[in-house]
Amino acid sequence: MNIQDLLLGKNKSNQPLFIAGPCSAETFDQVFQTAKYLKQSGKIDLYRAGIWKPRTRPGGFEGMGEEGLKWLKEVKEKLQLPVITEVANSEQIELALKYQVDALWIGARTTVNPFSVQEIADALEGMNIPIFIKNPVNPDVELWSGALERLMKKGITQLGLIHRGFTELGNTEYRNPPMWNIPIEMKRRFPNLLLINDPSHIAGKRSILGDVIQKAADLEFNGFIIETHIDPDHAWSDAKQQVTPEKLFEIIDHIQWRNPQQGEQPNQLALCRERINRIDKELLQLIAQRMEIIKEIGQYKKEHKMTILQSHRWSEIVNKLTQQAEALNLNTDFVLKLFDCLHIESIQLQDKIMNTKREVE
Ligand code: PEP
Ligand code: MN
Repeated sequence: MNIQDLLLGKNKSNQPLFIAGPCSAETFDQVFQTAKYLKQSGKIDLYRAGIWKPRTRPGGFEGMGEEGLKWLKEVKEKLQLPVITEVANSEQIELALKYQVDALWIGARTTVNPFSVQEIADALEGMNIPIFIKNPVNPDVELWSGALERLMKKGITQLGLIHRGFTELGNTEYRNPPMWNIPIEMKRRFPNLLLINDPSHIAGKRSILGDVIQKAADLEFNGFIIETHIDPDHAWSDAKQQVTPEKLFEIIDHIQWRNPQQGEQPNQLALCRERINRIDKELLQLIAQRMEIIKEIGQYKKEHKMTILQSHRWSEIVNKLTQQAEALNLNTDFVLKLFDCLHIESIQLQDKIMNTKREVE
């Protein structure tokens, strides 16, 4: 089967492409049984399984290597289910091709490194195999575009994108927050490429997989790659986010597929709202940083017996802000009001540090 035809056919008919399978190939039975259930449903287009696993820390399960490729070949031949796996260097590409893997993906930790992407592009020159590029771990549109361009420059045309979310410390909702504005920008830059959503690595847990898929469906993603395991609780990697084939079908059946044409307006709105949310979050983080410095200053003033209000310093700030607001085309009254609030809060913070409250008799 020519996967690219399948991909294009799917894309033209606006049917989402479904890729499913375990995070890692672990044993022949686990690979084959999971594939059998997925194939029987008739809902899955490609079977995924990681053969070489990029682990954050050493010592974990790092994949079955060549042995696992033999199992994928059985899935492909016996079940007539095309297979896809991750490659990170030329040696892995050579092995994957030797076992007739149908399509490849580049992992998020590889996309960040231009040397690795270049090595992959060089190794794939002249090959006719579909390759999907996952977003880099950091939310950098240029780095993601650059990886694509390295492959395009080698004449590789069967390309797709996988959005798997981005590293962000302190986020408890998602394992890798989606930052939807990034894939939306990639879609704008490369409108003809398939854009696949990876809710498993975004969510990191089963409970919100459906919500992530729904959101991606509403943003006109062309397909999904979802980690599916015959016995998810005992998976050797990413156990928390994997689902059984049954659970996967249940989730898919609950997704509302809306008309892309009617979706255009909300998309624009969704994009703007995502940007606003990010900016608000960054504003708050900056304010929190500012308050930390304010506390340090409070400590210094206390030790050096200085007054809280240093009026010359405040007028210096007001003058600077007025100039900067004008240069940025912002209403100066508004900017000064905003900073007045910050100033009052800062004074209260320093007051707490410098003056332990006296008991009133
Ligand atoms: C994976 O797909 O199992 C994987 C390792 O993904 P990522 O590169 O997105 O972390
Ligand atoms: Mn995984």
